Amino acid sequence: MTDIRFDFNGRIALVTGAASGIGRDIALELGASGASVLVSDLDGAACDHVTAEIAEAGGTARSFAADVTDEAALKEAVACAEAQWGGLHMAVNNAGIGGRSLPTGEYPADDWRRVIDVNLNGVFYGMRWQIPAMLRAGGGSIVNMSSILGSVGFANAAPYVAAKHALLGLTRTAAMEYAAQGVRVNAVGPAFIDTPLLSANLSPEMMQGLAALHPMGRIGTPAEVSALTLFLLSGRASFITGSYHLVDGGYTAP
Ligand code: NAP
Repeated sequence: MTDIRFDFNGRIALVTGAASGIGRDIALELGASGASVLVSDLDGAACDHVTAEIAEAGGTARSFAADVTDEAALKEAVACAEAQWGGLHMAVNNAGIGGRSLPTGEYPADDWRRVIDVNLNGVFYGMRWQIPAMLRAGGGSIVNMSSILGSVGFANAAPYVAAKHALLGLTRTAAMEYAAQGVRVNAVGPAFIDTPLLSANLSPEMMQGLAALHPMGRIGTPAEVSALTLFLLSGRASFITGSYHLVDGGYTAP
């Protein structure tokens, strides 16, 4: 949780991948800032934990189990927010997976397709239904969770890097298409962040090795990503659309 507070009273938000890591922190922050939050993730019980945390802090939330590779489920998620609270103003397309760590010449095509499906197609499926809902609501703001690996390569992560790069093209294109109608679309590019995505797959020694790649000498926290994300969702970012915002401890500065 950060010390930054925005006023999202009366605003309705949808967050994917909201049961863990960065998405969970964004959902909690949105709830604490007055938004009604649809907490969406693969596992409904895991969503319920976050929904309960938001409610315990005095906020409003509802769980919605959905796999982002299922376009119909993301259409239903938007319909659920509209039915429950009367519209949709904010969406954070955050769900993502790391994929296997292998060089491109050895990457199994099925694993490639799965990473692209979750990390890229899943964002399109979400936007496909979020944008019309935001137009119906009179405007809105979308944040797509890219990565520093949306702008630089990283060995042994070809589909992840490709998906995160492609997300920027998708973000810019949708931003151009809907700028005049009051829907802003931006991308956030975190460097390595301390979440289960990393800690579940890497040893403490490997985590230390990653920390050393950042000029700040550490990896980031989910709160540092949610602070930027909530700013982009907020009216304070009213002239910001179609752009890619890094939160990377200097990773890409050299
Ligand atoms: P995380 O802690 O693993 O959270 C991601 C959540 O998304 C998990 O709850 C996961 O569920 C869920 N998810 C996975 N596949 C899904 C699907 N098909 N449909 C719906 N939900 C799905 O990871 P995180 O680190 O917070 O990552 C969030 C986003 O930030 C991702 O897009 C990631 O690429 C991006 N990012 C992370 C870092 C980092 O260093 N952590 C850096 C840059 C960008 P399960 O746990 O059940 O799989």
